[in-house]
Amino acid sequence: MAEMSHAVPERLQARIDSLVASAERPRPLDAEQREALRSRVKRLLEERDAVLIAHYYVDEQLQKLAEETGGHVSDSLDMADFGANHPASTLVIAGVRFMGETAKILSPEKRVLMPTLEAECSLDIGCPPEEFAHFCDQHPERTVVVYANTSAEVKARADWVVTSSNALAIVNHLEANGEKILWAPDRHLGRYIQRQTGADMLLWQGHCVVHDEFKAFELERLRAEHPGAEVLVHPESPEDVIAQADVVGSTRQLIEGARQSQADELIVATDYGIFYKMQQAVPGKRLIVAPTGGKSATCASCAHCPWMAMNGLENLAHCLETGAGEIHVDSGVREKALESLQRMLDFSRSQGLVTAGDA
Ligand code: SF4
Repeated sequence: MAEMSHAVPERLQARIDSLVASAERPRPLDAEQREALRSRVKRLLEERDAVLIAHYYVDEQLQKLAEETGGHVSDSLDMADFGANHPASTLVIAGVRFMGETAKILSPEKRVLMPTLEAECSLDIGCPPEEFAHFCDQHPERTVVVYANTSAEVKARADWVVTSSNALAIVNHLEANGEKILWAPDRHLGRYIQRQTGADMLLWQGHCVVHDEFKAFELERLRAEHPGAEVLVHPESPEDVIAQADVVGSTRQLIEGARQSQADELIVATDYGIFYKMQQAVPGKRLIVAPTGGKSATCASCAHCPWMAMNGLENLAHCLETGAGEIHVDSGVREKALESLQRMLDFSRSQGLVTAGDA
């Protein structure tokens, strides 16, 4: 198996750190303000022929509003898929920017709005298109496989897009064809897939600022305090955290894992925004956030994505009212990105896999 080969340069890490530090959460609202905004958003969704589609990691208020208005709460590709199949002419995507781009790639004829265009993703920022293209050019013999958490330009450079739901099946398929793989951007997910499949993979060294922070030592202690608990882990987490998991999977697979678990307590290593939908699936179980800080470190994200947290009722109402936060994707880039996305969708459907994955 090939070793990892492309470290994220310090300047990109510095940019990620500074964007994490400057990500602004919406101001707190009292009950009356919240209710007024909820009514305004409901009215605007109707007036603008729009549907609200929210990611599992955004504020519970927005997930609830999406459900109440005939929208959808899911992972990134399923959000885009839902939008493409919905009759509304405007899609409002509450999530981070690459999710808006994916929705636009699948629905070029629709207007795609986001509450804020400043909601980034450390995997996307840590994999700039030009540097990534250079890396690919150095390894022309390799099939380029990128995770859904990338810009439209990076998807356009790829042969395949994958999600954490279907990456194992797709890499197994490529491996069986004797293909060598260039993988980007998440290093933990890449290593996990590499170990599971034995494929020859060169790994870009990106990371998610939320999942990278889960701590193995503290998790062991937490498990000792809750001996009956099962551990659900997203594969963007470090290897020594994944090693303690009862279930490893995408957001939707973790919710399904919770549903099938016999345990009364579940320790969950992913963004705690997922608790809203997970608790709906298992109302009788106690959900516990896996540790991100403690003896070995303090946390910066503390199990909640700073960019997902930028989505709020006020900026949601504002984008609907004014049309601010519209997503545009260059048509040439879109066509190429659609090819790698479509390859994944066709493969997943032919294998009877769920077509969507997650962030
Ligand atoms: S949780 Fe991680 S992978 Fe998801 S959007 Fe935030 S930084 Fe990106």
